[in-house]
Order: sequence, then C-alpha cells, then structure tokens
Amino acid sequence: MIIKMKHDVSQEDINRTVDRLESVARDSGVVVSHIVSKGEELPVVAVQAKGTDIAKMDLDQIRQLESVDSIVRIAEPYKLASKTYKEKRILDVSGVQVGNGRLLIIAGPCGVESEEQIMQAAIGSKEAGADMLRAGAYKPRTSPYSFQGLKKYGLKLLAQAKEETGLPIVTEITDPRNIDLYLDNGIDVFQVGTRNGQNYDLLIALTDALKGTDKAVLLKRGMGATLDEFIQAGEYLLAGDVQNVMLCLRGIKGIDTKHTRNSVDTADISVLRTLCNLPVVYDPSHSTGDRDLVYPVTLGAIGHGADGIVVEAHPNPEMAKSDGPQSLYLNKKERDRTNLVTLIESARHTYQAIKHIR
Ligand code: PEP
Ligand code: MN
Repeated sequence: MIIKMKHDVSQEDINRTVDRLESVARDSGVVVSHIVSKGEELPVVAVQAKGTDIAKMDLDQIRQLESVDSIVRIAEPYKLASKTYKEKRILDVSGVQVGNGRLLIIAGPCGVESEEQIMQAAIGSKEAGADMLRAGAYKPRTSPYSFQGLKKYGLKLLAQAKEETGLPIVTEITDPRNIDLYLDNGIDVFQVGTRNGQNYDLLIALTDALKGTDKAVLLKRGMGATLDEFIQAGEYLLAGDVQNVMLCLRGIKGIDTKHTRNSVDTADISVLRTLCNLPVVYDPSHSTGDRDLVYPVTLGAIGHGADGIVVEAHPNPEMAKSDGPQSLYLNKKERDRTNLVTLIESARHTYQAIKHIR
C-alpha cells in the first residue's frame, strides 16, 4: 500500500507516521517493511507485508493522522478469501462437491409450511435432480403480520425430509441462540440471509459453533452491500475457521422495484470470480421476484460462471405462504420453463456446454 502524505509535512511528521505504521502492524501480528520517498512535492511511504497480510491491519489508525493525505491499497481488504492466498476453494458439503466442475442445485420452497408440503417439495426436488433441499423454518419477514415460519417444528420437518430423501438441508439462521437447535436437527448448511449479510455477531456466533466441523454457510449478499463488503463478511467466517463457505448473490436494491423485486446482479458473479476464491451461487428467485424470469436469469448466471443455483420451487406455488410469485412449479409441463424439472435440465445442459470456457 502507499501512504500519501500531505505536501507540506515535515520529517518529524513522516517519522510519526512510520511509528504509527509499525505499531498498527505489531498489534495485528503483521510484519511490514517500508520505503519513504520524499520526491519534490509528494512524500509517500510505500509499505509491503507478506502475502496479503495488510488486510489484517486497521488502516484508519494511520489514515486519521493529520499529516496523512490518503492511503492507496494495492492488495484487497481481505486475505483468506483472496486469490493471492488460494486460487480456488473446492468444498465438500455433506458429500456434495461444490466448485469442482459440476453445477450445484439447491431447490425447495421459501418456507416449510406443513409436513405434506415439505415432503412433496423434497421428493419433487430430488426427482428433478436437485443436490440439496432449501426451505426456511424461521422466516425474517418485512411485515410482522406475514407468515413467520413454523420455527422449531419446521426444523423437525426438515430433519424428516432429509431422512426421507437423503438430501442435505439448507435453511436460514436468524438468531445465534438457535444454532444448537439447528445442529440437533442435522441442518447441513446455515443460510445467512440478506438482512443479516453484515450481522457480524451472527457470523462470529456461527464460527464459534461450526469451526472445525464440515457444516457449511451459504452467505447471502446484504441487499445494499458492495462486493468488497460482501467478501469481507465471508472473510469473517474463514478467519473463524469455517472453511465451507459459499457466497450467494441474490439481487441488490435498485431504483426500479415495479418490474423486478431487485436489481439482478449476475455480472457480479464474473467479478467475484476474479476477486476471490470462494464458490459463488446465484439466487434467481429473490433477485427477480418473478417465476417467469427465473429461467433466463439462471442461464445468465451460468454464463457468468456460477458454481451453483439456489431456486425456490413449491408443490403449489399459487397457495404458497411466502414468495409464491417467484416460486417454480415442481412438475413438468410441456414446453413450460416455469417448472423445476425444465430449469434443472437446461441449467445442467448449459453448464456442461460452456464448461471449457469458464
Ligand atoms: C430466502 O431464501 O427465502 C430469503 C429470505 O432470502 P433473502 O435473504 O435473499 O431475501
Ligand atoms: Mn424466499
């Protein structure tokens, strides 16, 4: 990184800045070396550390000095998630390989609604070719009057669906106090929803409970988070020794919510793939809010290099208690692209067809 000093600084100011640099580095356990270049008008301090270790330093502690003009980063603000640290992470999530040349499909309803509904969804998703079942037991809803999920009973039903189909279970965790309950019910993948995308207490609680296990986290992008903020949320998990982390893009807040629920951020899959080493999953359901758009957006996401798709599908979307308008039908209807069977067939076909240019 480069520390740009203000043009009129004295040698004493520069020395003070270097002292601060060294103390911040020491506090973070980072070894740095530096060169001071005074130039004619623009004194700078060029700083190097091993690998991407500068990501561990709180640069505001240096930026806030009156004699410092600005800091220009060269390395990314994260370390373990960066390509410099590791080119690519391949995960093993309850026996399913992720990021290893095969498209991951996670499918299921928005929420667990009843025993009959989740069993039909689980069996239908499995028959359609999904690798994992998704469904929320605890639903964070915008309105307190909307369906809030079956909670504890919902987790029990998910355990039953896993027993019946063998599909690993993906479900959203909203409250750190419930983590043990999820573990007791054999939940495989803890989904952190967009509303909690930067809830660092939740992320830290997950690392405390899951470190050293093979449980996974599907981390959704905060709806207003930049890509660097999103990756840094993933870094929290990696830094806390949770290795099975998938990043999930699901659309961001845009200027037009009349026609789509969110702004579709599929191009950010390509960007994430150049920036970081974690597998990237795309959610065409929450990004669009419209089952008619799920198919084209899924194919677009695969074109951008998605490692997986998480998609909502319901045995009876017209009667769903949440997110019905964006939920696919489970059953195949001739030439209709709003059903899960067609979606998975086309998604896998497309993925195979373009695999060599990924
Ligand atoms: C969901 O997956 O049902 C969900 C609530 O997702 P998001 O957090 O992306 O809105
Ligand atoms: Mn939903």
